[in-house]
Amino acid sequence: RQAKAGPVAVPEEAGEPVAGDEPMVRAEQVWKWFGDTDVLQGIDITVRPRQTLVLLGPSGSGKSTLLRCVNALEKIDSGLLEVDGERVGLRTTGDGRLHEMAPAELCRQRTRIGMVFQRFNLFPHMTAIENVALGPRRVLGLSRDQAEAEAERLLTRVGLRDKLDAYPAQLSGGQQQRVAIARALAMRPHLMLFDEPTSALDPELVGEVLDVMKDLARRGMTMIVATHEIGFAKEVADTVAMLDGGVIIESGPPGECLVEPKEERTRAFLSKVL
Ligand code: ADP
Ligand code: MG
Repeated sequence: RQAKAGPVAVPEEAGEPVAGDEPMVRAEQVWKWFGDTDVLQGIDITVRPRQTLVLLGPSGSGKSTLLRCVNALEKIDSGLLEVDGERVGLRTTGDGRLHEMAPAELCRQRTRIGMVFQRFNLFPHMTAIENVALGPRRVLGLSRDQAEAEAERLLTRVGLRDKLDAYPAQLSGGQQQRVAIARALAMRPHLMLFDEPTSALDPELVGEVLDVMKDLARRGMTMIVATHEIGFAKEVADTVAMLDGGVIIESGPPGECLVEPKEERTRAFLSKVL
């Protein structure tokens, strides 16, 4: 199968930043509800290319739902959401009405976004290099040789040069999560989403995963990261957004929001996680 050409050029090499200055993600008054529960209540965010937005907030505040909307795994119910210059979930047609996008369309949009979850979800019967090379072969249409050469380069980049042929069960949680990051990068995403990527790890393994994410941010990957790691947010975020009850209660540079928060709820949250 051939790679599908999106409206924006796919980066030549996996894991390289995109050019341009148009917002990579733009959300305006995004609402999402499940039945009677309003889970996102008018979210506004802008993420520019090569920037990192860190989402903070208590469990149940809507971080995962927001990431899932950006990745078109959930459809928004109201508002505007654009990723990479394209509407996601809902679009307006000529008659001015909102229409839900077709599953195939959502699926195509998703290929330009890499997502890393709390659980690594590697294929247990495949080695590290096979896990990373699978998507590029199946979806991008690379040959086995091309895909494995690139997988080796990416696994080297995340510090797993000596684990190419290891199966997930032979790897620590931190190593598995680094394979999962390499696997996402192999699809040449324009945007990387991380949903509490270190929450399931033993404390001594958290640092090696955060280091890989810091390196990605330094190299100019555009990222949204839901995490409770305040140190990471301080060091890496261009912007932090504090969610509570589906609302961004405070956002701005980490030097402001995390050091001198204006909102009492932000202070209360920070005092719990620090
Ligand atoms: P966080 O990631 O910040 O912990 P979530 O986005 O997972 O928050 O959840 C926000 C709220 O939405 C929670 O109250 C959760 O119970 C609710 N929620 C999430 N997914 C669903 C769903 N599929 N159906 C119903 N409620 C959901
Ligand atoms: Mg969550």
